[in-house]
Amino acid sequence: MYSNPLTPSVTLVASAKQAAKEQVFDTKAIQKLDSAHYLHPFTDFKDLNQKGARVMVRGDGIYIWDSEGKKILDGMSGLWCVNVGYGRTSISEAVYKQMETLPFYNSFFNTTNVPAVQLAAKLVEISPAQFNHVFFTGSGSEGNDTNLRMVRRYWDLLGYEKRHTIISRHNAYHGSTVAGASLGGMGGMHAQGGLPIPGIEHIGQPNYFEDGRGMTEDEFGLKAASWLEEKILEVGVEKVAAFIGEPIQGAGGVIIPPATYWPEIQRICDKYGILLIADEVICGFGRLGTWFGSELMGIKPDLITFAKGVTSGYIPLGGVLVGDRVANVLIEKGGDFNHGFTYSGHPVACAGALENIRILEQEKLVEKVANETGPYLKQQFATLASHPLVGFANSVGLVAGLNLVKTKAANIHECELFDASANVGMICRGHMFNNGMIMRAVGDRMIIAPPLCMTKIEIDEMVGLIRRCLDATLDDLKKKELV
Ligand SMILES: *Cc1c(COP(=O)(O)O)cnc(C)c1O
Repeated sequence: MYSNPLTPSVTLVASAKQAAKEQVFDTKAIQKLDSAHYLHPFTDFKDLNQKGARVMVRGDGIYIWDSEGKKILDGMSGLWCVNVGYGRTSISEAVYKQMETLPFYNSFFNTTNVPAVQLAAKLVEISPAQFNHVFFTGSGSEGNDTNLRMVRRYWDLLGYEKRHTIISRHNAYHGSTVAGASLGGMGGMHAQGGLPIPGIEHIGQPNYFEDGRGMTEDEFGLKAASWLEEKILEVGVEKVAAFIGEPIQGAGGVIIPPATYWPEIQRICDKYGILLIADEVICGFGRLGTWFGSELMGIKPDLITFAKGVTSGYIPLGGVLVGDRVANVLIEKGGDFNHGFTYSGHPVACAGALENIRILEQEKLVEKVANETGPYLKQQFATLASHPLVGFANSVGLVAGLNLVKTKAANIHECELFDASANVGMICRGHMFNNGMIMRAVGDRMIIAPPLCMTKIEIDEMVGLIRRCLDATLDDLKKKELV
C-alpha cells in the first residue's frame, strides 16, 4: 500500500533552496541549448540566438538571481504576477501536499474537487458584491476566450442572436490566443495570422500624454469615453454585446486613465444595456491597493478576467468572475455551455491560489499598498520627474511609468519626443538590466509593477537604482548624440 507522510515537505523545500544557492551553472551551455531548442514567446528568435538569453535561476522576496550569481531587483514581479514575492515556502508546501493527495481530476462530468470549490468561494468573498460565480481557466488569455463565448451565449439565451460584437481599445492587451489577441489592440499582433477575428471593434485608448493635447485630464477622460458611444451607434446598438477594458492598461505601457473616464464608460454601458468586462489580470489581487481595480475606478463590471496575481505566478491559473446578471441567465435558462479546459479548476493550481490569497490577507498586503507603500511609491517616483530625461511620471498603487523625452516642457504635451527608430526605451532598459534593475520599456515609456510585499526601504533602493540607471542612459545618449 502506498502511503506518503506529508511532513518531510518543509525539509524538502529548504534543501531545494539551499541547493539552488550553491549550484554552479554553465551559462554558455544553457544558452546554447536554449537557442537550439526553445522558441521564446514574443521574441525575435534569430536575434536572441545571437545574444543568448539571460538565465534566471532563483528568487527571494523582490530579488532574482541569474546563473552568473548576479542579484537583480525585479521591478516587474516576473511578468506582473509575483505579487507576494519569491520564495514563499508555504505556497510550495500547499502545492506539494495537493499533488500528493490528488494531483488532478477534471470538473467536466458532474465531478468537482475540494480546492476548486474552496477557491471559488474565496474569490466570491473577496470580490465585489455582484459576483457569486467563477469559471476557471489555465490563463488570462483563456479567461478572455471564455468571456467572448460567454457574453455571446448570454445574448443568445435572451433571444438577441445579433448582439455578438465586442468593443475593445487600441493598445489593449487581452492575451495571445486567437480571441485574446483579437480583443487586444496590439498592431503587431494583428499583423500576424489574420487577426482580429470578425465581431470585434476597437476604439482609442485614454492616453492623456499622447492624445490629450489642448484638454484638461478630466475633459480628455470624457472625450475618450465618448468614443465608445460613437462606436456603439456606428455598429448599431442591436449588435453590441459588451465592452472590454483593463482598468489600467498594463502591457500597453501603464496607461492610467483620467478620473472621469471609467464612470463615463459605465454610464454609456448602462445607457445601452451592454455588458462591461473588466480585464483585471494585472489590476486584480491588490496591484492598485484594492482587491480588484474596478473598485478603485468606481465601476461595476458584469465579468472580471483574472490570472497572474491569483497565484502570484507560482503555478498557472486564470478565470472569469461571473456577475449575477450573466450567471443568472446561464443557470436559469439551462442547457450546456459547450466550453471548458482540461485544467479548469485544477486542484493543484487552486491549492496554490488559496495559499497565495491567505498570504495577501494575513500580511494585509492590499491595505498596505493602499495606505503605505502605494502613496510612498507615488511620492518617490514623482521625484524622478525632475530628471532631465523624464517628461512625465505617474503611478497608482504599485504600478508606475515614466516617459523618456528629448526635451522637457512644463506642459507635458510640449515635450520633444525621441525618434522612435532610436529605440531609446530599449537603450534605457539595457542600462537597467545591466545595473541589477528590471524595468520594462514600452516604446519610450519605462514601467514597473514590483511585488506587493515591497517595503518602503526597498522602494527607496529601487527609485535610487532607477535614477542611477537614468543617469547612465543620459550619458550613453549624449555619446550617441541622441540628446
Ligand atoms: C497577461 C495578460 C493577459 C493574458 O494572460 P496569460 O496568462 O498570459 O494568458 C490578459 N489580460 C491582461 C490584462 C494581461 O496583462
